[in-house]
Amino acid sequence: MAQRDYYEILGVSQDASDEDLKKAYRRLAMKYHPDRNPDDEDAEEKFKEAKEAYEVLSDSQKRAAYDRFGHAGVEGAAAGGGGGAEGFGGFGDIFGDIFGDIFGGGGRGRQRAYRGADLRYSLDLSLEEAARGTEVTIKVPSKVKCDTCEGSGAKPGTSKSKCSTCGGMGQVRMQQGFFSVTQPCPDCGGEGVKIEQPCTDCRGTGFQRQEKSLEVNIPAGVDSGDRIRLSGEGEPGENGGPRGDLFVEVRIKPHPIFEREGDDLRCEVPISITQAALGDQVTVPTLEGEAKMKVPGGTQSGKTFRLRGKGIQGVRSSRPGDLLCTVKVETPVNLNNRQKELLRELEEEAGKQNGSHPHSKSWWDKVRDFLDRLAS
Ligand SMILES: [Zn+2]
Ligand SMILES: [Zn+2]
Repeated sequence: MAQRDYYEILGVSQDASDEDLKKAYRRLAMKYHPDRNPDDEDAEEKFKEAKEAYEVLSDSQKRAAYDRFGHAGVEGAAAGGGGGAEGFGGFGDIFGDIFGDIFGGGGRGRQRAYRGADLRYSLDLSLEEAARGTEVTIKVPSKVKCDTCEGSGAKPGTSKSKCSTCGGMGQVRMQQGFFSVTQPCPDCGGEGVKIEQPCTDCRGTGFQRQEKSLEVNIPAGVDSGDRIRLSGEGEPGENGGPRGDLFVEVRIKPHPIFEREGDDLRCEVPISITQAALGDQVTVPTLEGEAKMKVPGGTQSGKTFRLRGKGIQGVRSSRPGDLLCTVKVETPVNLNNRQKELLRELEEEAGKQNGSHPHSKSWWDKVRDFLDRLAS
């Protein structure tokens, strides 16, 4: 029999969130539940179908396998919970979970598989590394199964005993209005067993901390705040649940020359009075080395020149950014007498000529206007 697409069964899109899936399943489960549709084979079939689809899609590992390989990727997985063909076995778990959510009980059955927590790692990169891309080895703290107790949490030679509060069920029943709601046992945390003598190496957690080395490929053009996801490199899951993910978050260290603005780079270039006045071909730094920049005669301090394509090729951009060079005219210091003399001569010459200092002229015009108005 040809199997229907799981997303289609639940009536959700491929990018549906866990919450969307749960909502869709909840709606179908309510509608086609056998208790509500006695002797209705069609409803029973639809109920089973929805349950199977939800079981696969709500498990991130199974969902990923299904997305890649279709039904072949999760063959037998859906029936793994003891459910499948023979009826509604295992159904109580999922339904209990959903009811728990509805009524705020948060009921979680014993042996429920938990996905491991996600981890975050801050990676400091130089601007050059970020621009070119690089491969780094990072060391991340990792939880591994405790060798001493083999993950049981109990001191070797001792064993766990059945929890007396819940009789080993891991759950306690509570009456809430019409419904009887199951909640995790407060005494054993839903485990159903209690550790009498905790393992001293892991303090009863069953895990130990270890440092793990990971090779991370940093694509060229990453920027501060970009995150690289390493699937399955987070904390281990519990009761067979999948591992969480590791997110490597990029931070770019300040650069002595360049400042980054998206794909563009900014830098300041000092030039002399003579270069600014007469014009010159100036050498400026780029991330690859050097470039020539033409400064036309009569350039004012603070003017910015754009060198196209000399910025950064961003991860998500089709073309590289630009290099924006802002020239700063530097006033000469420690002049000798000859230099002073030449400058005085220059000043005298410039005073005879109209229009040699356009900014000064318009500024003084404004000042005179202002003083006139003040006097009248
Ligand atoms: Zn241990
Ligand atoms: Zn208990």
